[in-house]
Parts: sequence; structure tokens; C-alpha cells
Amino acid sequence: MPDVFADLVGQDEAVTELRRAAAAAAAVLRAAATDRTPALVAAGEADPAPAAGTSDPASGMTHAWIFTGPPGSGRSVAARAFAAALQCAYGTGCGECPGCHTTMGGTNADVRMVVPEGLSIGVGEMRALVLRAASTPSGGRWQVVVIEDADRLTEAAGNALLKAIEEPPPRTVFLLCAPSTHPDDISVTIRSRCRVVPLRQPPATAVAEVLVRRDGIAPDVAQWAAAAAQGHVGRARRLARDPEARKRREAVLAVPRRLTGVGAAFDAASALIEAAEAEAEASVAEADAAERAALETALGAGGTGRGAAGAIRGAAGQLKELEKRQKSRATRAQRDALDRALVDLAGFYRDALTMALRAPVDPVHTDTAALADAGAQKWDAEGSLRRLEAVLACRAAIDANVKPRIAVEAMMLALWKG
Ligand SMILES: [Zn+2]
Repeated sequence: MPDVFADLVGQDEAVTELRRAAAAAAAVLRAAATDRTPALVAAGEADPAPAAGTSDPASGMTHAWIFTGPPGSGRSVAARAFAAALQCAYGTGCGECPGCHTTMGGTNADVRMVVPEGLSIGVGEMRALVLRAASTPSGGRWQVVVIEDADRLTEAAGNALLKAIEEPPPRTVFLLCAPSTHPDDISVTIRSRCRVVPLRQPPATAVAEVLVRRDGIAPDVAQWAAAAAQGHVGRARRLARDPEARKRREAVLAVPRRLTGVGAAFDAASALIEAAEAEAEASVAEADAAERAALETALGAGGTGRGAAGAIRGAAGQLKELEKRQKSRATRAQRDALDRALVDLAGFYRDALTMALRAPVDPVHTDTAALADAGAQKWDAEGSLRRLEAVLACRAAIDANVKPRIAVEAMMLALWKG
């Protein structure tokens, strides 16, 4: 296994900072072992101000971190790698020792990854997590809690987390991931107690390199996929490997030439929504069925005799709870699928815009470059920009909870009218 930071593409500055912090954290543990300085805050931070964790951005260790960056920049990859570096027995993420191995494999007892499946992380889940995070690390190093999509915390859950971050147990480290530190994404009070690690959108060449090296993908395919995915590593990997993902992308990129009238615009909107629904359905169906089967087995489905009636009533409640959770997950999967389609579409109009401006940049979608060029000549820069803005406005509207179908229909009409 290579070094734990190997998959963090094009983020050299962040990796340097995280390694330094992991080394400082190891020093804290060594000091604690000789009983000189028992706690992280005392040893790692010289500044006793309220925002103790943020006192020295250049070095040292602190107990709360936020990884920010655009989707696909590797927020959760960075958080996991840092968690491994903190559990590493020999260095700062050697990739060889049990601490690194178990963390990267998701089996380390002292590392919890919270991956929200629904649209938000609830307070119950967060309270349980904070409670467990306060326990002594079984491996003798750190309790690490990774919260992916911390921007999806409910307000109450955020408050529960804030309490834990304000009065951190001595050996607990919180790693949050969010698109940005904007107050919409993360509360100002949580932000003020965390050190921020900004990640940037990795360049396509760096993404292509990792696809070739790690996934064994042919260089030309890797290069195409990296460009088409606009710096999103996971998306690039899927495009390179999954023919279905490629087909869906092609269908999305066919939208601009299909918009020949009002009826066609509504048809295109329906097609886009239904494709997102189908994709989401396929992605959650297997997990849904497995969860339901597991719950039914646990509840002893089909049981008879004394107590069976009461058990069935209890079981109905649990099944209902499961269905609620699954519905929330399905909604999120639909939104994510639709968002991917909109990002692809935005890439097309961005290509048209840069071509109209004769900007010396490579197109996002090399395979529809000719079509984008034709659009550029027909629409000019202004028309291309208006269309790009229509796509971005649709994303923003859905983000603000406008019904997806309505937002997409409005976008299609705007794209058709130009
Ligand atoms: Zn290690």
C-alpha cells in the first residue's frame, strides 16, 4: 500500500500541512507517554484564547478541522488520509502499519466516518456520535470523527457538535468536510473553532495521472475522462470505467441540439428528470433491498405464537422508520444525479463561451467541441454566457429547494430562447 496521501490529487500544500500536524500529534502522544503534557490543547497550542484551535495556522496539531473545496476535490479523501496519519504507528501515514491499514480500510475502531445518506444529518445521530467520540481511544492514539458533508448538519445537530468542539475530550479529533466556510455551509461558531484546510480543484492532468497509476486506465481514456469530469476524481473514474455513466453523459450533452421548440424544451426537461430518477433508483435499489431483508430477518418475519402480535406491531414501526430513511436517501441520490447532469451541461456552454471569446483554454468536453463551436458562432459570447447562466441558475434554484422539475423546465425554456 502506498503512502496514505497518495490519492489526494494535486493538493501538495494541504498534504504538507497535514503531515506537519500529524507529526505534532505524534509528539503530543510521546510527551503524554512520559507524562509531561497530558492533553492535546496544552501541548499543541500555546495560545489560550477561546479559539485555541486556530491559534497557529502553520504548525502544530489541533482538535478540530474543516476540509473545504469543490465537489470531487478530495475533501473526504483528505480527511480519511489525515485520520490514518494520526493513527500511524511509524510516521505520518506510512500506509504500511496496522493503524494506516485499518483506517484506510474503514475498520479502525477509533475512526468513525459519518456519511449522511439523507439530505441532512440529524441531532440524534450527532448526539450518539459525540458521546462515543468522548471515549478513550482503544488503540491508544486518537479518537477521530470524520463528518462528510458537514454542510448537511441540521441546526440542532450542529449545536450538539459545537458543544463537543468547544469542550473537546483530550484525545478526540473532529474532521469536517464542507464545500466552503460560507455561513450557509458551516456555522460561524463552528468555523471559528476549526482550522481550515482549503483544497482546490485538481488540474485534469493530475486526475488523469492518478487514473492511470492507481486504476490502470489507458492514458488516452484517462485524459478524456479527467477533462470531462472537470477535476472531479470520482466522476472521472466512473466515466472511464462505467459505460452506463458514459451513456448518461452523452444523453445530457445531446440536450442543446434537441431544443428546437417549446414542446421539445419540456420533453428535454422530462427526459433529464427521469434519467436522474432512474440513475438514483439503480444506485440505491440494491442497498434498500439488502437493508429490508436484514431487518426482516432480525425481526423474525413470519413468526407465530405468543408475543407475535406485539412483535409485529413493533416491527411495523421499525420498517416504517427504515422506509423513511431510504426515501430520504433516494431523494438525495436523485439530486446528486441531476446535479451531475447540470454540471455536464454547464461545461458544454462554458466551452461555447470560451470558443466565442477565442480564449486559449482546452474544452471541457472534447467530444462535443465541434458542436460547442457551432453554438459559439450562432450565439456569440453573450448568448453563450446567458445559456451558461441559465444552467447555473437552475442548480442554485434546486439548491434553494425549488422543485427540480420546475427549475429544469425553466432552464430548458431559457436555453431554447437563449
Ligand atoms: Zn502507518
